[in-house]
Amino acid sequence: MADRTPFFVGNWKMNMELADGVAFVRTLSTKLPSSGCEIGIAPQGVLLSVLVEACRSTTFRVFSQNSGPAKSGAFTGENSPDTLKALGVSWTLLGHSERRHVFLENEELIQKRCAAALSAGLNTMVCVGETLAERKAGKTLSVIEKQLGLIKGWVDPARLALAYEPVWAIGTGETATPAQAQEIHVGIRGWMERELGSQKAHAIRILYGGSVKPDNAKALMGQSAIDGLLVGGASLDPNGFAEIIKNGLS
Ligand code: PEP
Repeated sequence: MADRTPFFVGNWKMNMELADGVAFVRTLSTKLPSSGCEIGIAPQGVLLSVLVEACRSTTFRVFSQNSGPAKSGAFTGENSPDTLKALGVSWTLLGHSERRHVFLENEELIQKRCAAALSAGLNTMVCVGETLAERKAGKTLSVIEKQLGLIKGWVDPARLALAYEPVWAIGTGETATPAQAQEIHVGIRGWMERELGSQKAHAIRILYGGSVKPDNAKALMGQSAIDGLLVGGASLDPNGFAEIIKNGLS
């Protein structure tokens, strides 16, 4: 795993009620080591301020699930990155496959969100990945390289991480095999090296996401190019999420 700190992030999507979210943090914090990895949770926006408070006595990072494309302005339904930062949110997911494929966010919009988030002081985790049709057509890496191309000017490994999430593996129960995931992570790092140099390519953290469960976490994290796991459905149960982290680190 080189010298990159392992990162485990739970994306709760539009799930989890307020009291359950607070109880989740309490349970998770009693089950995990306080060092050796970074842990984040991404609650729905309306819960962020309560979860920031609940996480104050922990080392957990609170993520927003998206972040607005500018500091402020006429963007109904969006959250300003400056306001998120002021609230105590430290990271944001960007370009999640549900944003790309359900809400039809395109590369230009994701690029604007990325620039605005980083200039507000939010760290960003940019999600990339191919559809099943793109994989079958042998286009996986070219699709991802296009997704990465537009954010490449903002790549600072201390403040930006990537999540490889094959669209066909998200919420489907179908996980990329560790070898399939490793192959793409190596490809992404190779692209980074060619485009941005070996220092950045070596330092950037690339998480895998897509139907991660307690029983596949160890094998995925055993791959040298996989630096962490972005977990959706299985992160809703604090015991299961703790197991994923423990298995991933074992
Ligand atoms: C996700 O939402 O980022 C995700 C990977 O979901 P799941 O683990 O449910 O496939």
